[in-house]
Amino acid sequence: QGSIVVHVRAAPLGGEHILLLADDRTEFTRTAAMRNDFVANVSHELKTPVGAVSLLAEAIDDAAEDPTAVHRFAGRLEKESKRLAALVQGIIELSRLQGTDVVVKGKPVDVRQLLDEAVDRTSIIAGERNVRVGVGGAEEAWVYGDGDLLMTAFRNLIDNAIRYSPADTTVGVGLRRRDGLVTVSVTDQGPGIAPDEQERVFERFYRVDAARARATGGTGLGLSIVKHVVANHGGEVTLWSQPGQGSTFTVRLPEIEEREDDREVVASRA
Ligand code: ADP
Repeated sequence: QGSIVVHVRAAPLGGEHILLLADDRTEFTRTAAMRNDFVANVSHELKTPVGAVSLLAEAIDDAAEDPTAVHRFAGRLEKESKRLAALVQGIIELSRLQGTDVVVKGKPVDVRQLLDEAVDRTSIIAGERNVRVGVGGAEEAWVYGDGDLLMTAFRNLIDNAIRYSPADTTVGVGLRRRDGLVTVSVTDQGPGIAPDEQERVFERFYRVDAARARATGGTGLGLSIVKHVVANHGGEVTLWSQPGQGSTFTVRLPEIEEREDDREVVASRA
C-alpha cells in the first residue's frame, strides 16, 4: 500500500493556474511503520524479564532469614539477567543489520574455518545436553563477506539445533560447493517445525512455543538475525522440516575464488 501526499500551491504564473506537487511517501511511511513495530515488539519483550528481575530482588530481600530461599531466588535472578543480556545483545545486532543493505567491511572468508570455530564455541552447551555435533563436506569454501556477521549466523543455527535436540542425538553440519554456490546445512533430530510455522520462525520475536523457548533460553531473534545476515551477503536461508523428523536449515552464499584479491572481488560483484 502506497501513500502520496499532494500539495496544492498558487502557481508562480498567477491567474487561473495552480501548481500540484505529488510527493510519494510510500517508502518513508513503510520504514516509519516498521520502526514503530520494532519499538513496540522490543518494549513488550523487555517488560517480562525486567519485571522478573525486580520481583526477584524484592523476594531475596524478603527471604533474608531463609538461606535456601535466597539461594533459589538468586539462581532465578541470574537466569533472568542472562536472558535480558541476550535479548539486548540480539536487539542491538538486529537493529544494526536492519539499517544496512549490503556488507560494509567485506573480505574473502573461508566458511569451513568459520564452521569449525562455531562448532568449537558451542561445544559447552552441546556437552551439557549430550548432543554430538559433527562437521563434514568440503575442506574449504570461500565467500566474500563479514566474518563476524557470518559467524553469528552460523552460531545461531548450530545453537538452535543443539537447544532443540533431545539428549543423545546428533547435529550434522554439512558444507558443499556447487554451481557457484557455497551451501551450509545444519540438520538436527529435534521435534521439527510444522509447515504453517516454517515461514514465521524467521520473523523477529516469533516462537513456536513461547514457554518452551523461554525454558531453552531463547529470545526469538536468532533466525531473524540469520535471515538478515544471509540476505546482506547476497544469499538465502531455507528450512526443510517435518514434525517428528527434525529440521534442516540451509544457507546458500555466492562462492568466490580463494585467490581473488579484494579489488577483483569487488569488481566481479559490481
Ligand atoms: P529462539 O531464540 O526462540 O530460539 P529463533 O529466532 O532462533 O528464536 O527461533 C524461532 C523459533 O523457531 C524458536 O522459538 C523455535 O520455536 C523454532 N526453532 C528454531 N530452530 C529450531 C530447530 N532447530 N528445531 C525446532 N524448532 C526450532
